[in-house]
Amino acid sequence: MLYEDGVPTPEDLEKVRPSPEDLARGPVVVIECFQRIPCDPCHTNCKSGCILPFEDLNDLPRTDPSLCDGCGVCVAACPGLAVFIVDLTAGGEGRAVVQIPWEYLPVPDKGQEVVLTDRAGRPVGKGVCLKAVRFRDRTYVLHLDVPAELAMEARGIDRRALVESPA
Ligand code: SF4
Ligand code: SF4
Repeated sequence: MLYEDGVPTPEDLEKVRPSPEDLARGPVVVIECFQRIPCDPCHTNCKSGCILPFEDLNDLPRTDPSLCDGCGVCVAACPGLAVFIVDLTAGGEGRAVVQIPWEYLPVPDKGQEVVLTDRAGRPVGKGVCLKAVRFRDRTYVLHLDVPAELAMEARGIDRRALVESPA
């Protein structure tokens, strides 16, 4: 539960799950932000208008998913590491591409296999790092090729596995 261990509940996640239509369209932002706090860089950094204006700085983000172009700037801008991009149309048959924030070292190399983890840090499968993008000096955004069935589960990678099996 979010307030006890920082892990959102299935009910929390259901509220921000993109519709099948949005997922079928291309890249779509998934904002797993559930606490009202005075914070809005996800909105102020989104130049496409996908993350809607806040009426109150404490509001939870709202989106128009049809406007998301998958640029990933919001992933890097969120101090809460709560923003992800999911693209079920990329990656080929049975695959998807997920963008996640990454604040640790090492940064995986292009083509490196990674151990995917869920929101609680538990391993859920394997993926491949397609690239690590950095917007100025912000948090890295990892583009991960993942099995399509893990697109809404994989929200991190195992740092220990990276250290133990460098590229
Ligand atoms: S990925 Fe780009 S277009 Fe989509 S919500 Fe984030 S900043 Fe906006
Ligand atoms: S920047 Fe991150 S933590 Fe702040 S409101 Fe947006 S999603 Fe929530």
